[in-house]
Amino acid sequence: MTEINIHDMLTPYDTKKLTIATVCSHSSLQIFNGAKKEGFKTLGISVGEKQAFYKAFPLGKPDEFFTVDNYKDIARFTEELREKNVVVIPHGSFVEYLGAKEFLKLDLPTFGNRNVLVWESNRDKERIWLEGSGVTMPQEIKDPKQINKPVIVKYHGAKGGKGFFIAKTYDEFLHRVKKNKSYTIQEFVMGTRYYLHYFYSPIQTNAYPVSVGSLQLLSMDRRDETTIDEVQRLGSIQELEELGIHPTFVVTGNIPIVMRESLLPQVFNMGKAVVEKSIELFGGVIGSFCLETVVTEDLTFKVFEISARIVAGTNPYVSGSPYSELIQEDLSTGRRIAQEIKYAEKHNLLEKILS
Ligand code: AMP
Repeated sequence: MTEINIHDMLTPYDTKKLTIATVCSHSSLQIFNGAKKEGFKTLGISVGEKQAFYKAFPLGKPDEFFTVDNYKDIARFTEELREKNVVVIPHGSFVEYLGAKEFLKLDLPTFGNRNVLVWESNRDKERIWLEGSGVTMPQEIKDPKQINKPVIVKYHGAKGGKGFFIAKTYDEFLHRVKKNKSYTIQEFVMGTRYYLHYFYSPIQTNAYPVSVGSLQLLSMDRRDETTIDEVQRLGSIQELEELGIHPTFVVTGNIPIVMRESLLPQVFNMGKAVVEKSIELFGGVIGSFCLETVVTEDLTFKVFEISARIVAGTNPYVSGSPYSELIQEDLSTGRRIAQEIKYAEKHNLLEKILS
């Protein structure tokens, strides 16, 4: 749990002059673009010269850059950043570059509930949360000797699916596994992947009802993963494996997608259940989160992962998605975050959505 007190952090703030800040990477173009649309000042925390890159995208460029030598240094400059009334928007790279421990104690008002990290970054806790909410997860195989169907082996802390591998037998597992690393073995779920982008507001009730606040579905994507997604151009996975070529799961991009409409009620049921359980466990997964799912041939969902912040899969939707367009025109996740901060400021509720 964080020792940071949001009330104390906000006390010296001029909340009428908030600056939206994030690390220049991941989904920062969308975050800055959305914040500007809502009239916020924006600040990009960058390592080295990023200005040239942002010149290429003027509508996604922050008003100001804050340059550090190393992302880990951010913690040393919090006083300076607080003087600028900075609210930090975390994303995957932000948390990764700073490190989870440092992020938890970062002395800056941060969008969302930081305590979610404790539940999200530990696979056992993540399972307690998700299965406790009633969603179905892929079966976990505790003893590799029990492998009797295709499994995916995931190394703990591996970023972007790096090093993950598929095994169909115990022998194959033994052949591939790196023994010095800790891992989880999951049933490899056959079906189609959908990465569902939700937004949970604990302070607004104008969307899908949740016991406290409401829930929106802003968009969904499918990740493009190299080499698994295109490896079949060279031959079947079986053929390639015999040659010692193994598919990998490294994310390189995101593809927009919509789902058959009859599945959407399940999407909301799952989102609501995950939010309700999060409220019970740690005060709620506030703001954006993503359920990573596989839809099986009997049209049921298996959730293999949760990301509890804006995900890069929202980036195809800078000017809205087929779902968010039905909520408000031109609504990206980045813009929705800015709107939540604006609403909270206006109604004196910032402490409910920042941590
Ligand atoms: P993760 O790091 O858990 O998001 O997994 C990386 C990638 O591996 C996902 O984007 C999927 O393509 C794939 N994957 C993960 N878990 C499973 C599963 N249980 N069944 C099938 N594919 C999976």
